[in-house]
Amino acid sequence: MKKVGIIGTGFSSLTAAIELSKMGFDVEVFEKNSSPGGRARHFEVDGFTFDMGPSWYWMPDVFDDFFKKHNKKISDYYDLVKLDPGFSIYYEDKNRLDVPESYEELKKVFESIENGSSEKLEKFIKRAEKKYEIGVKNLVYKPSKSFLEFLNIKVIKGAFHLDIFTVFSKYVRKYFKHPKLIKLMEFPILFLGALPSNTPAMYSLMNYSALKQGTYYPIGGFFKVIDSLVKIAEESGVKFHYDSEVTKINVVNKVVENFEINNKKISIDIVVAGADYHHVEKNLLQEKYRNYDEKYWDSRKLAPSSLLFYLGVNKKLLNVNHHTLFFDQDFSVHAEEIYETPKWPSSPLFYMSCPSVTDETIAPKGMENLMLLIPLAPGLEDTEEMREKYFNIMMKRIQQLTGNDFKENIVYKKSYCVKDFEKDYHAYKGNAYGLANTLDQTAILKPSLRNKHINNLFYTGQLTVPGPGVPPSIISGQVVASEINKHF
Ligand SMILES: Cc1cc2nc3c(=O)[nH]c(=O)nc-3n(C[C@H](O)[C@H](O)[C@H](O)COP(=O)(O)OP(=O)(O)OC[C@H]3O[C@@H](n4cnc5c(N)ncnc54)[C@H](O)[C@@H]3O)c2cc1C
Repeated sequence: MKKVGIIGTGFSSLTAAIELSKMGFDVEVFEKNSSPGGRARHFEVDGFTFDMGPSWYWMPDVFDDFFKKHNKKISDYYDLVKLDPGFSIYYEDKNRLDVPESYEELKKVFESIENGSSEKLEKFIKRAEKKYEIGVKNLVYKPSKSFLEFLNIKVIKGAFHLDIFTVFSKYVRKYFKHPKLIKLMEFPILFLGALPSNTPAMYSLMNYSALKQGTYYPIGGFFKVIDSLVKIAEESGVKFHYDSEVTKINVVNKVVENFEINNKKISIDIVVAGADYHHVEKNLLQEKYRNYDEKYWDSRKLAPSSLLFYLGVNKKLLNVNHHTLFFDQDFSVHAEEIYETPKWPSSPLFYMSCPSVTDETIAPKGMENLMLLIPLAPGLEDTEEMREKYFNIMMKRIQQLTGNDFKENIVYKKSYCVKDFEKDYHAYKGNAYGLANTLDQTAILKPSLRNKHINNLFYTGQLTVPGPGVPPSIISGQVVASEINKHF
């Protein structure tokens, strides 16, 4: 049995581990931190359970398909609820729009804002659904080693529907005029880590997921998904090693022989690097074996980093939904400060997650569990003073817009920012979400999932194909496993 060593326990590493062990490989996983999940870890403190990263459960079919493929049922592992409203947005006029769970209700909301827009939404979503079918059911499962992979009849026929060469910002304005609707439609694109003016309209497939499929939540928190994958992996014989940072990958004659953990050499037949791509290449490999040099990484458009706060509040908040976007400031200014002239935002847009509205298991009775998030340019100078300054800005805006004053009721507070991403995950410039999904960083233009100089070293995760986010990472692990199975 060939032994596969997987570096990291993010979503992609876990799905790769499950697939490879089912394919008959002997799989061991090595994680530098003391618990699994990578960016999707959680922590428990004083009766609160905080998800540290993902909170939006979109593209539920990607999760379903993976569980089904392994003869498992999601409901045997966690309870998935559909949120209503799916999410809420505060606009510049200080009013809030709740996005209803029901698509028919959503059409009424659109119509109430712009005459004729419900019909346009219908057309937009129909096209987006087509893109979803071609993109998420087909294209993203390709290893993206060559354009030739995409030359099959289904894809060629579908290419017409994909709008690859139209930018999203232009595309959406063909359908809607009202700035509130445009902001709502552009929001899911921000998940892809780039501006709507830099993102192919193909990604309107995200609107299909956000607005038609809806927003889900696993009771107990997003970490329940990680926990389930670890259980499935263990059931199929995968061995996990925590507090086990890989510090060097040793190569002889273009083949990895072993990697080093705590000065101990671990012999390995095949390596899957699920840790951040740049870190693996720069810190674990000799220069001659790297796929990409520093100049390449420097030229990449990274998705943002983030400033996060995890808060325990000892009272219930009023009039607060599960997901709230504070888009009450000028989006273009904040966007410019993330992507064009990186600096701390002058007037940030931010996001508040309050999962305890839905889930009583993650906070003590009568209390709330909150996460606040400001997207930031990667690589910014990260100081306590800055974190605190932006904490106060967010608290003030939450009070003004929702009417909740709870600063004195915070019984637990932890911040997380650029330096933590670097320290905890070896994240290049402290990035939170990997590389932006711009056209020139899509499919075969992403960092390759195979090392070009070493026969048995593969990469997986949000920095390679298909890209950032939980569903793409779940897919990335499957794609790399299938490549390995083909070669060995
Ligand atoms: C704040 C935040 C919010 C997010 N929100 C959402 C959301 O709402 N919905 C969504 O779909 N996606 C969201 N994402 C994105 C999503 O979480 C990621 O795309 C996904 O989890 C990345 O998975 P990955 O497989 O690339 O591994 P990662 O999670 O990046 O894990 C890599 C692992 O490798 C380990 N590692 C690094 N170096 C070494 C080493 N030398 N030796 C051993 N181990 C090592 C790290 O400790 C880590 O555990 C969010 C991300 C963040 C940070």
